[in-house]
Amino acid sequence: MDKFVEKELNGWGRYRGSRSHIYRPEKVNGIAAVVQSRKEGSYIGRGLGRSYGDAALNQGGGVVLTERINRFLSFEPNSGVVSCEAGVTLEEILKVFVPRGWFLPVTPGTKFVTMGGAVACDVHGKNHHRDGSLSNFVLDLKLLLADGQQIRASRDENSDLFWATVGGMGLTGMILSVTLKLRRIETAFIRVNYRRTRNLDETMRLLEEEDQNYNYSVAWVDGQAVGGSLGRSILIRGNHATVDDLSPQQATQPLEFADRRTWTVPPQVPNFVLDRFSIRAFNSLYYRRFRQDPVNSIIDYDRFFYPLDSLLEWNRLYGKRGFIQYQCVFPPDTSRAALVEVLSRLSKEKIPLCLVVLKRFGAETGLLSFPMSGYTLALDMPMLGAPLLSVLHELDQWVIRQGGRVYLAKDSCLSAEAFKEMYPRFGQWQRIKTEMDPQNLFSSDLSRRLRITGVDA
Ligand SMILES: Cc1cc2nc3c(=O)[nH]c(=O)nc-3n(C[C@H](O)[C@H](O)[C@H](O)COP(=O)(O)OP(=O)(O)OC[C@H]3O[C@@H](n4cnc5c(N)ncnc54)[C@H](O)[C@@H]3O)c2cc1C
Repeated sequence: MDKFVEKELNGWGRYRGSRSHIYRPEKVNGIAAVVQSRKEGSYIGRGLGRSYGDAALNQGGGVVLTERINRFLSFEPNSGVVSCEAGVTLEEILKVFVPRGWFLPVTPGTKFVTMGGAVACDVHGKNHHRDGSLSNFVLDLKLLLADGQQIRASRDENSDLFWATVGGMGLTGMILSVTLKLRRIETAFIRVNYRRTRNLDETMRLLEEEDQNYNYSVAWVDGQAVGGSLGRSILIRGNHATVDDLSPQQATQPLEFADRRTWTVPPQVPNFVLDRFSIRAFNSLYYRRFRQDPVNSIIDYDRFFYPLDSLLEWNRLYGKRGFIQYQCVFPPDTSRAALVEVLSRLSKEKIPLCLVVLKRFGAETGLLSFPMSGYTLALDMPMLGAPLLSVLHELDQWVIRQGGRVYLAKDSCLSAEAFKEMYPRFGQWQRIKTEMDPQNLFSSDLSRRLRITGVDA
């Protein structure tokens, strides 16, 4: 069996950290050997650690890294069905399959995540309003259960386990491999439309009226705008470009483009780099970059989907204190009032909002999956200690009253009580967990904090 290293690990927000035994097996059987050894009281899988809080941490227990479990297993060129081990990253899938005319069916805002991590969070992308979450394209999973069995789960086989695992935050077992249906593309480019809005009402109206014209749609919100400008945004919408959309030069090799340069943020960054003044200046400049009239352009998929990926280790920009991303979703009928309340409240408390993104969601999927029909708002803010936490706890209550919920992949501060009110299908999920893992062999700092366990604790 592989040896472990005892080490402190962090979430992407660098606010939550904990010490555990870290295993880095090279083969699927190595994962099974670690988990079956029961050397530690509990285990949790970890991909590239892009969840913001404590979902992939396990204080005093075992953390199983999947980065070396990264082989492609099969590909059907006619249907675009790929099967791969759980540690394969979205970046690797794109590198191999875009030149062959296939794209990810759903992608989060970074390609530095593993398939296992993406399934465990049932990630959503800019196309959720049309296509839903990643699980809609997952055909089959291979799982390692607490009793040591390796089994398949899909819509037709062990379907309860399938719906508990997508969005199940790694707590039903280790995902060993994933079979996924890719999307056909003609080019590696996106036809993008940028449009500036004056306030939240205009933002919401245009999203509702025009979203159906775009496969991908999101609003970058000026988090500093208040009063009549509250919610003013840049709408960023796009569709996959066809060869006819490209310039003659791009059209010669439509599935290729020049790689972007990357920069790496140094390990120590002073706190003032992202303070209230620099954030205000950035937001204002970005908003003014666009005119009122819509602007169209053709850009490669990497610039469109992953603008932050060219700045490696960008989470260090927040300095030692780290940062929090608060992402919540509201049903359609309460969305407007709820969005006004969240944005105004954080502005009144003078909490600097570095990045604010708004988007419409389609239908919900897995038992613990985050998305539900309505509007989701994601807000990045520096970790400002107890005063910020107390505001966020109040917002949690507000989110509950509006029938919404907070995304576990981003969360680091929710209470167990609030979690249970936000996720009404938790009881159903818990019955499956109790059956599959009665001793909570698969646990994490997040599952203990929120009491997402098999037996009602
Ligand atoms: C810049 C940025 C943008 C993002 N944008 C989005 C977005 O648009 N939409 C969205 O939905 N998310 C988004 N995220 C969140 C991110 O997509 C998810 O947290 C993703 O799951 C992280 O994948 P990972 O491989 O790093 O997993 P980790 O962070 O390592 O783990 C995440 C969860 O998956 C579990 N897990 C990992 N591997 C396995 C496995 N093999 N078996 C069982 N469980 C496993 C872990 O236990 C943990 O609960 C973003 C994150 C960043 C940093």
